[in-house]
Amino acid sequence: MPELTAASLMEHHQAASVLAGLLEGNGRFIAGEPRYKRDITAARQHAPGQKPGAVVFTCIDSRVTAESVFDCDFGQLLVVRTAGHVPDRAAVGSLEFAAAEMGVGLVVVLGHERCGAVAAALNAVQDDTHDPRTDYLVEQLWQPASQALSESTDAEAAASQAMRLQVRRTVADLGRRSSLDGVLVVGAVYDLDTGAVSLVDEP
Ligand SMILES: [Zn+2]
Repeated sequence: MPELTAASLMEHHQAASVLAGLLEGNGRFIAGEPRYKRDITAARQHAPGQKPGAVVFTCIDSRVTAESVFDCDFGQLLVVRTAGHVPDRAAVGSLEFAAAEMGVGLVVVLGHERCGAVAAALNAVQDDTHDPRTDYLVEQLWQPASQALSESTDAEAAASQAMRLQVRRTVADLGRRSSLDGVLVVGAVYDLDTGAVSLVDEP
């Protein structure tokens, strides 16, 4: 797994400065001082073209709206979403497209607390339940769910740990792909209550 070390930050100088910009945006979001008004005037202004600096790869959860969380304007952020940010083919293809066609050098894998997809996997592992409608997702999240359950003492800790493991797994999966060579991939967690984004592995 690529570590977010000082050396890798030097190597990814531009991506690191984009990341710093996103975290600054998160600071404005938390402070209740957003810079961008995402209304029709802003939409029209940016309609002719886009120059996104990063992709946020996050969960489908309705409470995790990347443009708000990072206080980004139209045209600044690409967002890929799958439940539990499972990096399956179409999601990875979207990241590859962003890197190859739009020159995006930063992917932020953003997990969040109280993730429903992770909870479904935890329930399935614990109760050996079987619902064919969630089979695919549960299978994809089985490993972090079962590892977290074996390492945690209570349900809340297991849920948080499973989500963090899934963020790291997703980062590692993307980091192994030569199609994403030169792209800085970092893991982060969004706190639903405070609005804060924190990096899973601090530099
Ligand atoms: Zn989720």
